Amino acid sequence: MSGWVAVAGLGPGSAGLVTPDVAAALEEATDIVGYGPYVVRVAPRENLRLHASDNRVELERAALALSLAAEGRKVVVVSSGDPGVFAMAAALFEAWENGPSSWRELDIRVLPGITAMLAASARAGAPLGHDFCAINLSDNLKPWSLIERRLRLAAEADFAMAFYNPRSKARPHGFARVLEILREVCGPERPILFARAVFTPEEDLKIVRLADARPEMADMRTMVILGSSQTRLIMRDRGPILYTPRWSE
Ligand code: SAH
Repeated sequence: MSGWVAVAGLGPGSAGLVTPDVAAALEEATDIVGYGPYVVRVAPRENLRLHASDNRVELERAALALSLAAEGRKVVVVSSGDPGVFAMAAALFEAWENGPSSWRELDIRVLPGITAMLAASARAGAPLGHDFCAINLSDNLKPWSLIERRLRLAAEADFAMAFYNPRSKARPHGFARVLEILREVCGPERPILFARAVFTPEEDLKIVRLADARPEMADMRTMVILGSSQTRLIMRDRGPILYTPRWSE
């Protein structure tokens, strides 16, 4: 019985941003478990079993991975970006903690990946160069009132902010409200980055003033980054640079 589970991050999209450790685990694996669009990013080969599942069944998916490992299989659970950021690593530990005691000593590893926030930030310059926070704007797993409270307090504390899951077909209105709150606290001139599908062929970057930001600029493939009061937007022919100096007054 030498089974294991590795929860691995595939990065934002390009092969170059998959770490060598993740590539090695994928090569050793007997089973790949994950949300369909992430599983298709793994090259199929003989004797590699692919277990693709739907969105929003994280605990079932985690239980499947753990029981396969308990049978002696070598399982990689794939996430996009980093598996510890709004993704499968925490779901796996939740299923593990509440699962049978025979799972307690299983070999579980978390293999980090490059999260969307860092990939998007790199494309625009260095907007997260000083203190920042990351907020998931989906209210699937928390009340909307908590999102509003965190937004407001983070804006008042003058953090730069990275927003995951800004807007989806199922949640078309929340992001409009987010922009309203941010305008109220941060004013109209604050730069905001919409980074869609970074490190994929569909990549698209827009940087606008908060006053000109519209909800339709974001979808489920977009990372939104709001600057702090110190963030600089510098226009040039080769494309704008957005960066936050390392210091603050
Ligand atoms: N674990 C992932 C995040 C999962 S939440 C990570 O670490 O990146 C899914 C959200 O991540 C999306 O709604 C979007 O906001 C962001 N995202 C993921 N991949 C992205 C990409 N290539 N470009 C821009 N945003 C991305």
